[in-house]
Amino acid sequence: MSFSSLPVATLGTPRIGLRRELKTALESYWSGLSNADDLLASAAALRAANWARQHAHGVTVIPSNDFSLYDHVLDTSVMVGAIPEIYGWPGGPVPLDIYFAMARGSQGDAGHADCGHSHHGAAQGVPALEMTKWFDTNYHYMVPEFTAGQRFSLASIKPLDEYLEAKALGYETRPVLLGPVSYLKLGKSKDASLDPLSLLPGLLPVYVEMLRRLAANGADWVQIDEPCLVLDLDDKTRQALRVAYGMFAYALPKLKLMLTPYFGALGDNLDTALELPVAGLHLDLVRAPEQLDAVLAKAPRGLVLSLGVIDGRNIWRANLATLLDRLEPVVARRGLDHIQIASSCSLLHVPIDLELEAELDAELKSWLAFSVQKMDELATLGRALAGGRQSVTPEIAASVLAASTRASSPRVHDAAVAARSAAVTAEHARRTSPFAERRKLQQAVLDLPSFPTTTIGSFPQTSEVRKARAAHAKGALDEAAYEAFLRQETEAAIRWQEEIGLDVLVHGEFERNDMVQYFGEQLCGFAFTKAGWVQSYGSRYVRPPILFGDVSRPKPMTVAWWAYAQSVTDKPMKGMLTGPVTILNWSFVRDDVPRSVACRQIALAIRDEVLDLEKAGARMIQIDEAALREGLPLRRGEWSSYLDWAVESFRLCASGVADRTQIHTHMCYSEFNDILDAIAAMDADVISIETSRSKMELLEAFVGDNYPNDIGPGVYDIHSPRVPAVAEMTDLLGKAAERLRAGQIWVNPDCGLKTRKWEEVRPALINMVAAARQLRARF
Ligand code: GLN
Ligand code: ZN
Repeated sequence: MSFSSLPVATLGTPRIGLRRELKTALESYWSGLSNADDLLASAAALRAANWARQHAHGVTVIPSNDFSLYDHVLDTSVMVGAIPEIYGWPGGPVPLDIYFAMARGSQGDAGHADCGHSHHGAAQGVPALEMTKWFDTNYHYMVPEFTAGQRFSLASIKPLDEYLEAKALGYETRPVLLGPVSYLKLGKSKDASLDPLSLLPGLLPVYVEMLRRLAANGADWVQIDEPCLVLDLDDKTRQALRVAYGMFAYALPKLKLMLTPYFGALGDNLDTALELPVAGLHLDLVRAPEQLDAVLAKAPRGLVLSLGVIDGRNIWRANLATLLDRLEPVVARRGLDHIQIASSCSLLHVPIDLELEAELDAELKSWLAFSVQKMDELATLGRALAGGRQSVTPEIAASVLAASTRASSPRVHDAAVAARSAAVTAEHARRTSPFAERRKLQQAVLDLPSFPTTTIGSFPQTSEVRKARAAHAKGALDEAAYEAFLRQETEAAIRWQEEIGLDVLVHGEFERNDMVQYFGEQLCGFAFTKAGWVQSYGSRYVRPPILFGDVSRPKPMTVAWWAYAQSVTDKPMKGMLTGPVTILNWSFVRDDVPRSVACRQIALAIRDEVLDLEKAGARMIQIDEAALREGLPLRRGEWSSYLDWAVESFRLCASGVADRTQIHTHMCYSEFNDILDAIAAMDADVISIETSRSKMELLEAFVGDNYPNDIGPGVYDIHSPRVPAVAEMTDLLGKAAERLRAGQIWVNPDCGLKTRKWEEVRPALINMVAAARQLRARF
């Protein structure tokens, strides 16, 4: 480059490939259509393309070892030899089969049946490691599993291999490692008395050896991720950080470490971070811009600061002029040699290239930046800070123009929506009467037996259903034919539910592609991409909706389907909606208004739908909040403000109806103890939750006045193809009845059935109905 630039860094890039090449390569390998060499060659090509792309777009601090065939936490477990015994690792290089057995279980994909965004290990053969969400993202990592007496050894040198691979292609890279303290904290031991942090002394020599090899082969800097630094930490963890980084500095005094926390503020961990003997510290200045002043006041002069100002978690284009206003004084104060410009976190969490979106209109596109566009933004900032703004005048002007059109666009700002939101009062979020009175009125309308049976909403999305949807999307199946097909599926599902004796029916959700997308596509304020894939876990990618503007509902979304379904049966048919918090948490959201504001708008739109369903005759309406829990902030101190607006949003959509209309909600996870007050405050008449695998133990929390409303503790684990026997379910229900009032209990599966096969669902639900009947006889 002819002009100077500050160092600019991405902290990692998407691995999946512009055209989802990684998914194709993995699935072809797993199904036996290709061999390991083919898979590894595809992976190498993707890495080469990532390095070339960053280089071409002006990134100067290019990461290596950010790539992974499946998951970088799994890679770390393999690197340090933390491979549980059941996988039968004989020592030596870790074979691909063992790697994938850890990722997915050793027999097929059965364990990864999809329940929205919550996932579990394999049910047969050797199970996969547990999987869970990576901090507050929708990326899932494989949970490291430790045992007492855990030994570590350098079992894979992937970081070095990839560093050298890049070097051979002409790129000097900065290898990325997941830091030892975050790594241990992300792991678990089956033996509850073992604190993973106690394993640090055994782990550190492996890290030292890895770092030593990187340094010996020419690595000048290593990026070492410690996202745990943005969490509430106890003294033991802080001490572990001191020990680890003290040891690295002692063993490798010349190697420069860029200590890299992200996803929030260092907060009360700032002093700890600044104490660590590292050469550089990264700051997430998107999530926590306010921390910059404190860091500047305290950071030693020689410390290189990596300023993470380009949002790695969201898809909005930056206003570069505003950023430069903030950054120029920092550079002036600390000097060009001690500043790097970076994305706030790895770009893993955003789609790759906006240019693939041929169908998004030009104006909306001008407001967005995917990973490639973010690289350009970084490069522009680097040049402006080193060579002056005049060296990049057109780029800055374009970004300012985009920001100003977005800020004033009538597509974003709808005065009617703002007025309606502002007019919300406490009354709008309160049912007319308390639950006990509502319950009597509802029972008079519904006349349900005790232990009423129902399902969570979806029935199997068979290949015929998916084929018909695809044909319709392509225009090969016309509207009328598609509609007729869906009606036929719906009616068949209803007939079958009647036949087996379920008490409360569902229409089956055959018309829905996805529980969020289906609603987003019908609401104003949302846009959708064609190729905006983001990794959720392994080879599973999602295309999150883009919430760009004020939300309103131009017309009813589900009423016609509900009315059709109710018209073919006398049994009560549940209306079926996705709640506002879940829609919000599974979308890319606006950064120009607080999340609470966007959530309230969605809530009001869903409230209209609830009221229209009631008007059309619905006696019960379910509003799913599958993702309420996962939206919890990383810091405990921020939970209550999140829960306040999340609960208020739910109540806003649920509270317009008459007392006699029964509101259900559903949540597909089983940790409630710490948020039970908030769940109770939602005041749904009936809540269905996941419990089958925890053997009803969690119901302890719901006992007595802790949770007065009705509960459907899932008795059928839908994540497994296994058909539960009647006795298993009566057993679970018996346990539930010991803890709750008999009249409080509903009988239902853990979650929707869309990922299961009819052959599994039919016998399972027949058994479930039989179990409920036995309970009725007993109580
Ligand atoms: N009603 C949805 C379904 O049954 C709920 C899915 C979910 O909770 N993830 O598919
Ligand atoms: Zn669920």
